[in-house]
Amino acid sequence: MKVLKFGGSSVGSAEGLSQVKRVVESNAEETIVVVSALGGITDQLLATARKAASGDETYTALLNAMIDRHFDLADETVLPENRGRVRERIGSLLDELSNIFKGVYLIGDLSPKTTDAIVSYGERLSSVIVTGMLSDAVLCDAREFIQTTPYFGRHIVDFVSTEKRIAEKFAGMPRRTVVPGFIASDLHSGDTTNLGRGGSDYPAAILASVLDASMLEIWTDVDGFMTADPKVINNAYVIERLSYVEAMELCNFGAKVIYPPTIFPAYHKNIPIVIRNTFNPDSPGTFISREQLPDSGRAIKGISSINDTCLITIQGLGMVGVIGVNYRIFKTLAKSGISVFFVSQAASENTTSIGVRNADADLAVEVLSAEFAQEIAMGEINRVKKEPDLATIAIVGENMKHTPGIAGKLFGTLGRNGINVIACAQGASETNISFVVAKESLRKSLNVIHDSFFLSDYQVLNIFIAGVGLVGRNLLEQIRLQQETLMKNNSLQIRVVGATNSRKFIVDRDGIDLTTYRDDLERSGEESTPEKFRDAILSMNIFNSVFVDCTASAEVAGIYKQLLEHNVSVVAANKIATSSEYDRYMELKSIARKRGVKYLFETNVGAGLPIINTISDLINSGDRIIRIEAVVSGTLNFIFNEMSRTVPMSRAIRMAQEAGYAEPDPRIDLSGTDVIRKLVILSREAGYRVEQKDVKKELFIPEKYFEGSVEDFWKRIPEVDASFEERRRKLEAEGKRWRFVAQMENGKTEVALREVDSESPFYHLAGSNNVILLTTERYKEYPMQIKGYGAGASVTAAGVFADIISIANIR
Ligand code: ADP
Ligand code: ASP
Ligand code: MG
Repeated sequence: MKVLKFGGSSVGSAEGLSQVKRVVESNAEETIVVVSALGGITDQLLATARKAASGDETYTALLNAMIDRHFDLADETVLPENRGRVRERIGSLLDELSNIFKGVYLIGDLSPKTTDAIVSYGERLSSVIVTGMLSDAVLCDAREFIQTTPYFGRHIVDFVSTEKRIAEKFAGMPRRTVVPGFIASDLHSGDTTNLGRGGSDYPAAILASVLDASMLEIWTDVDGFMTADPKVINNAYVIERLSYVEAMELCNFGAKVIYPPTIFPAYHKNIPIVIRNTFNPDSPGTFISREQLPDSGRAIKGISSINDTCLITIQGLGMVGVIGVNYRIFKTLAKSGISVFFVSQAASENTTSIGVRNADADLAVEVLSAEFAQEIAMGEINRVKKEPDLATIAIVGENMKHTPGIAGKLFGTLGRNGINVIACAQGASETNISFVVAKESLRKSLNVIHDSFFLSDYQVLNIFIAGVGLVGRNLLEQIRLQQETLMKNNSLQIRVVGATNSRKFIVDRDGIDLTTYRDDLERSGEESTPEKFRDAILSMNIFNSVFVDCTASAEVAGIYKQLLEHNVSVVAANKIATSSEYDRYMELKSIARKRGVKYLFETNVGAGLPIINTISDLINSGDRIIRIEAVVSGTLNFIFNEMSRTVPMSRAIRMAQEAGYAEPDPRIDLSGTDVIRKLVILSREAGYRVEQKDVKKELFIPEKYFEGSVEDFWKRIPEVDASFEERRRKLEAEGKRWRFVAQMENGKTEVALREVDSESPFYHLAGSNNVILLTTERYKEYPMQIKGYGAGASVTAAGVFADIISIANIR
């Protein structure tokens, strides 16, 4: 004999019911089929009742929708020979229900007893439909044998009478019996009661246990018990086998797939439980049994959570060493019917923290404050404190036993992601480590733990990008093309989860579509400012997040600090923050270090050339940078290289802009500001405290061209063409070239336009190329030279991409 239980989603639609029929009728042996209400009906019954009780006559609309749904489903699924009978039966049940609602509406009162009566109709109706749909099935009302007794406002099963009644009722058992789940009757009054929300699994287990079933099958809408709730963790996967203990620990901590009390009756009689998917009956599901079978060698089997947590803390030096404090705490709570699901006490005995549901919190504080009133008055115990709106998470697995390092890995992972653990507990059985975090951190915690314990086979980086202009667009295209290879060769998944331009932003936890994001931004983007984008990033609270700045905006640079403080790494092509005041630059670096995240800006100087990393490698390995000489303005180089008899200065500037080399405002290049910023960054990275104002500069275009708007500039700049052409010719005759050189020697910095001859390493420098010469203690006589493309969207994007990848540390 087997017991099969089908949940609300399985019996909620004609498609589901046809699957149910197939599954049930494929069993040759005797079966008991326990069914929930049609999916969503219990909630709708409760909502309708509340509406009616509040005197809102529109409750009838909700009621009529439920009536139609039941009749329609019956017409679609019930066997023709049963249809008349079933219509009549559900008609009379729905009439009764309508009358109860009418009474509630007229009297304006909804007692717990009436509520219990109302919700029972869900299972009573569904079980009639399922019976009518199966050939030769008999309906047996659970209220005739599942008996309850009141317990602190709930109904708990009275096992003595329940077992006796089941034995009698099922003595000469028909081949196929359908039983409504969830509902029961009060042992004393006979009133209709129930086993609590989600409780339909429970009578199935009780029946299986009393009747010695060979198996209890729970049919639901997922492929089995999964490593975490698939609605939160989209790469959770099915656990093939669980022990009763593991299943109990997981569902007790919120894994809704089984109603927690369900496990015990099956465990008691050693009846295996299988979780199967009604909509995918070929999948084997999860097998739960007594044996603790090794499952792919993983130490933990699953993660579950309860988001309804309030932490009550009793603290005081007067508690230390006093016998009986905990006895009084738990006795007091038990007397008030408050269930405690989490307890933590440090060995100093100074503090005891307990986790209760938010709804129980005020009562818990009240009764504990009364119990310890005297100690509180004497100052031996501080006031009883409550911290509401928290979440409790548990990691579960019998293999954790005697495996060192699990707690270290768990708390290390949480810490690296900036998640604060408020309290933690682990029993000596070592099958469960539970801890409490702020509710906002729940999703992120579940993700990082899931990734760290189950998916360490590959790493995920979640990217938020600001700026989808030339560099940003190139970067996203490079990511799109490289995604598959990185996954295959480096087990690295790069997921772009947010993007913004100066007007709009989009975010998507599952990754935005890299082929359509530009249209998506326009069509469905939300209004954006750097602060709004930052808030969206922080409120998403995703693990392994990287913010990538491909703008040149000071406002965008202004959000790095908060991002780093919230453990979001920052990769900046934007050099404003790195070249701003020294203290700010150092602050960002130090926040990143403290938070264990990265602040990278390799492309601030020389686009994709490995300059900043090289300097930092030299210094970390004990070298000292004595001098830096650099031609680092790709734009100025381009301009000086393009200038010729036929291309005057103003035209060359325009060409640099058109080729995408120049900054949006070309004067930032021409004034040397861009080179100064770069020199400041290089000097700082080389270990010198340098500010922009410390850099000596010689302008090569008169000051007045830098005043006014960009438009004014474009209008007036051709005025300099003639004098530059004259100087250019002279230079050409001398066999020399112009180079805008930045120099730092022992912390002293300057930039100037220099005339270099063919002996100089700066002489041969085509296009927008950059050269950096590093003279160090080790590279003294022959400085280290780094040379190559120093500007351009695709090499800059590639440099940004390399920074992003280096965060994953896959090299
Ligand atoms: P039913 O109506 O069949 O009783 P429930 O909604 O009560 O179904 O339970 C199934 C749901 O439990 C799944 O749809 C899933 O969202 C949720 N769930 C939570 N944690 C887990 C988990 N660890 N494994 C599988 N499902 C889970
Ligand atoms: N129908 C009840 C509920 O929704 C019981 C169940 O589905 O398990 O809570
Ligand atoms: Mg359920």
